[in-house]
Amino acid sequence: MTANDDKAWHFATRAIHVGQEPDPLTGATVPPIHPTSTYTQASPGKHKGYEYSRSSNPTRGALERALASLEGGALCACFASGSAATSCVFATLSPGDKVLAYSDVYGGTFRLLKRVWEGFGLVPVFTDDPSPQAFARLVDSKTRVVWIESPTNPLLRCLDIKAIADIAHGVGARFAVDNTFATPALQLPIQLGADYVIHSTTKYIGGHSDVIGGAVIVKDPALMERIAFLQNAMGGVPGPFDCFLQQRGIKTLAVRMERHCANAMALAKHLQGHPQLSKVIYPFLEDHPDYALAKKQMCGGGGIVTIVFKREREAALRFCESVKVFSCAESLGGVESLVCHPAIMTHASIPKEIREARGVTDGLLRLSVGIEDLADLIADVDQAMGRA
Ligand SMILES: *Cc1c(COP(=O)(O)O)cnc(C)c1O
Repeated sequence: MTANDDKAWHFATRAIHVGQEPDPLTGATVPPIHPTSTYTQASPGKHKGYEYSRSSNPTRGALERALASLEGGALCACFASGSAATSCVFATLSPGDKVLAYSDVYGGTFRLLKRVWEGFGLVPVFTDDPSPQAFARLVDSKTRVVWIESPTNPLLRCLDIKAIADIAHGVGARFAVDNTFATPALQLPIQLGADYVIHSTTKYIGGHSDVIGGAVIVKDPALMERIAFLQNAMGGVPGPFDCFLQQRGIKTLAVRMERHCANAMALAKHLQGHPQLSKVIYPFLEDHPDYALAKKQMCGGGGIVTIVFKREREAALRFCESVKVFSCAESLGGVESLVCHPAIMTHASIPKEIREARGVTDGLLRLSVGIEDLADLIADVDQAMGRA
């Protein structure tokens, strides 16, 4: 299979076949896992392209080719976690460089910028306003990276990837999109102008809540040269078994995302207008503030639904304690449905006033809607509502 024919294939086909060529040695339809740290050389310096597994490993290489293909990028570097992938992008910068980000980024990304990279001289700047105009006001010649997520966590705001890409490029900055929530099955940031796509493959890409991983995907070979240098130099690489699990997850990404979206949309509609809720947030509901944009830049609303209880904390906690099909747990994007109370769980490190000003109140719950039978999910939510 040449590099060319994967371009002609559609997404679901590439998800199953790119990086999954039958093993040339044995014909094994599923390529073997390569748990080796080193590679035997015929003579010093005479090797088959692999020398040491921090630098490269065939199982990791297969995963990197698969993810590059799915994001429509040329190149991908995989990491031991989404946080290691994120950190690698910041490591391309120098003291004095500004990073402009939307304030509702993943908590770990905020923490990396404020409590790690700021100490090395990076200048993080956050906007509370997700509009392109706000980004345009805050970029300047010192801005080297503009960083966004879309949809955001847990408020599911959608940011205009194409418009913000143009603004970043206008000042010569690189534009990074954390595509963990949407996945390439629903949204292709590189096509919309992103220079970097970042993933926590822990979530939908792995898809089974059984592995931690991350990835950086780019189109520009010079940029990948720098990322690959840092990947090898800093060493935060995933092991071959973890790469295998992620590659295996990818094979069902297209069908899983279809079902996640269908279940989430149906559940959101079911809960809309519920007397116990003040809000149901889902990007593909018409009353979502970014509905038109979401419809334009995503081909599905995603698997996350956020709900807000009128009776605030007490009702939200009771709901979390009462679910039976859903599990109360952090993380998202697995086949099983999860419910998370961000104010107590994932967003606890953000001071209460700031958190509440952003809308992450004690009555807010984030549902990661899994791919179970919809009737069981609805029945579970209804019975938990009855106890909330
Ligand atoms: C989970 C997550 C991360 C961090 O990834 P880890 O694999 O947990 O290190 C980054 N961004 C988003 C949007 C996430 O949900």
